[in-house]
Amino acid sequence: MYEIGEEEVQAVRRVIESGKLFRYWSEESEAAQFEREWAAKIGAAHGILMTSGTAALICGLVGLGIGPGDEVIIPSYTFISTALAPLAVGAIPIIADIDESLTLDPRDLEAKITPRTKAIIPVHINGLPCAMDTVMAIARTHQLRVLEDACQADGGSYGGQRLGSIGDAGAFSFNYFKIISCGEGGAMVTSDAKVHERALVYHDGGGSFFRDFSELKTPVFAGSNFRGNEILASILRVQLQRLDNILAALRAEKRLLMEELAHEKSFVFNPVNDREGDCSTMLGLLFDSESSARAFLQEINKDGPVANSPRDSGRHIFVNWEAILEQRGAHHPGLDPYRMAPEPVAYPQGMCPNTLSILGRTVSIATSIHRSKEETQQLAARIKHAANLIGS
Ligand SMILES: *Cc1c(COP(=O)(O)O)cnc(C)c1O
Repeated sequence: MYEIGEEEVQAVRRVIESGKLFRYWSEESEAAQFEREWAAKIGAAHGILMTSGTAALICGLVGLGIGPGDEVIIPSYTFISTALAPLAVGAIPIIADIDESLTLDPRDLEAKITPRTKAIIPVHINGLPCAMDTVMAIARTHQLRVLEDACQADGGSYGGQRLGSIGDAGAFSFNYFKIISCGEGGAMVTSDAKVHERALVYHDGGGSFFRDFSELKTPVFAGSNFRGNEILASILRVQLQRLDNILAALRAEKRLLMEELAHEKSFVFNPVNDREGDCSTMLGLLFDSESSARAFLQEINKDGPVANSPRDSGRHIFVNWEAILEQRGAHHPGLDPYRMAPEPVAYPQGMCPNTLSILGRTVSIATSIHRSKEETQQLAARIKHAANLIGS
């Protein structure tokens, strides 16, 4: 979350004073309005407000008809939720390497496809767009569905299309750490009417409250409850108004940092698959070795933390996903996708040979919307100073 204030307070006050906190009590609910506004912003036909990004991923997979026996390819560097979502629908997450863009490596993606692969979840991590042209081409060739994890990439784009609208469905998170936020929340978008309908049913307790079942083409089936409420929606409608300004400020700062640092020799910038569409929440500096990256971090953080290593990002790296690596895929063995899989699943040691090295060689500089131009220039000077001290 970058910004929240009086406008959100007023929006919440309006909802509380109306007494209507449940979304299905009025046709023009805040939730329905947010869903339309969000879908329009992203460029998709349908949106569904949910309680979290994880819920949006799960409902996306339900919408796509993914289940037991299916494999879903995900990247090795993403929040653990991306790996948990396939398990929640009975499927197996298959972990593919990243490249220096920090997103899914299309070559390893292709190498990990088996006859059981049904879907890909490309993740636009740190707001960095995946190489969606290549991902979509691979998906078409192998007839795979694509669910974009845009949880960290609200409003970003690839090739002029908003992230989340390129694949068959997209998932967004509005938890505290994301670009726009209501504390905890999420949304799914899709332009596929069937995917929308199935996700709608699943997220609403099997269609518990959704208006008129006769409108649905698929028979209702059992689901869970991931419905968002009016308070979340009212906050998000204000946050949506702030999104363009937030992105503009983040992009301006990243651009200035890159200009200031363009001639540095001890690192290069991590490549970005679409510069224009990058949300610019982080600038990646890529060093030759992990020891240079560590030395740089030591130096630059001496006067207060401004940089960090994605290698230290805990549950964002596959080696820290114990439940998955040790194949405890459910709370009960009878529901464990690893036991339902037609063949034993293997997560061999060297399955993503480049991930740890790339993350270890990368230094992440978080951008801010609150720094003045002078402060950004001072940050660039600090980066240069630390880089000079460690040499090249
Ligand atoms: C935050 C995040 C999620 C999960 O979102 P929640 O709202 O916390 O459930 C999923 N994927 C990625 C890449 C995320 O960053």
